[in-house]
Amino acid sequence: MQDCFMNTYHRLPVTFSKGKGVYLFDTAGKKYLDFTSGIAVNCLGHNHPALLAAIKNQSEKLLHVSNYYQCDTSLLFAEKLVKAAGMYRIDGERQHVSGKVFLCNSGAEANEGACKIARKYSLKKYGEGRHTIVALAGSFHGRTITTLSATGQDRFHKDFGPFTEGFCFTPHGDIDDLDRALDKKTVAAFILEAIQGESGGAPQSGEYIKAAAHFCKERDILLMFDEVQCGLGRTGAFLACQHYGVTPDVVTLAKGIAGGIPMGAVLAGEKAADVLQTGDHGSTFGGNPLACACGIAVLDIVANDKFLAGITELGNYFMEALKKLNNKKIKIQDNGIRGKGLMLMCDITVPAWSVLEQCLKNNLLLLSAGEKTLRFLPPYIITKNEIDEGLQILDSVLNKS
Ligand code: PLP
Repeated sequence: MQDCFMNTYHRLPVTFSKGKGVYLFDTAGKKYLDFTSGIAVNCLGHNHPALLAAIKNQSEKLLHVSNYYQCDTSLLFAEKLVKAAGMYRIDGERQHVSGKVFLCNSGAEANEGACKIARKYSLKKYGEGRHTIVALAGSFHGRTITTLSATGQDRFHKDFGPFTEGFCFTPHGDIDDLDRALDKKTVAAFILEAIQGESGGAPQSGEYIKAAAHFCKERDILLMFDEVQCGLGRTGAFLACQHYGVTPDVVTLAKGIAGGIPMGAVLAGEKAADVLQTGDHGSTFGGNPLACACGIAVLDIVANDKFLAGITELGNYFMEALKKLNNKKIKIQDNGIRGKGLMLMCDITVPAWSVLEQCLKNNLLLLSAGEKTLRFLPPYIITKNEIDEGLQILDSVLNKS
């Protein structure tokens, strides 16, 4: 059966048929502890009752309506999302939304939308020639031709050129280079991940993000955070950029936004909220009621200070437990443990893929991020006991290999 798929993925030898909480079950009924959340998608774990209820309820009412019309579920979701992203003003007792959202279906599509906003914002205000989008070396923004252009990793580019022009790169954490790269005569936007998920980078420093925000504000360059992987509570704040106290002009989300149903979103704050006008952009499934109903279920749980504090606590527990793994054969590099909340990474001394394979055999699902880096993105509903259970398996694999 697998032969029917294009050969785009290196799949591990397991076939899943159901899930419950933090566990997945293969077709033979074998149970696996999931430290991956489908790469940050199943943020509430598998078969969460709130998601099941949302799917049942919405599917009995309306599955899809075109964007010729409005839909009550989608309107409610959009308002909740914009507020959760902090894009509102308080006027006395009332909250007034100050940002707007475009809903789509994936992270790449959300980043495409962000690039279009940046290009049009700059063109309308400053005219031709100010269209460059600066991105970071090591970044990952998607697999379409334009989002590959924004992706600062050559291994994804091979064989697919020519790419969309007007992108350039600056090294991770280099404030002087960023200052030079953000030329106000040619640059429309700076796009970055607060934590680089696919390349397993360390969280950006506060100093760097503050400098970026300062340059962007001073030069009227849009500051765009790609929070497709690190957003939606994963790091213990609703948006990872909120840890740094900066106000983004544009934010993109996807992955966990609807807990497992495909959806993406590009949000724009006050400055860029009205850049896209009728006919400028669109997506057949964007704002799909079923996805929005699931999005509401996710937001009602995740966009809550107490819940987010719980993610921080679990993340700290996970990181401390990781530091305590005392491995004999394969070492976890002490200073290579990094991340925030439930988005953690660590460097090891052998290819990560071999550890993933061994962990799979021992009923633990893990991710890699680069050749010798393990990545942990467990569901937010994980318990400390389940963290211990998974790390015991990892410990024994690292000791045996
Ligand atoms: N941006 C980031 C930071 C990502 O991690 C990813 C996917 O891993 C994407 C964009 C692309 O998202 P999608 O695969 O939904 O297009």
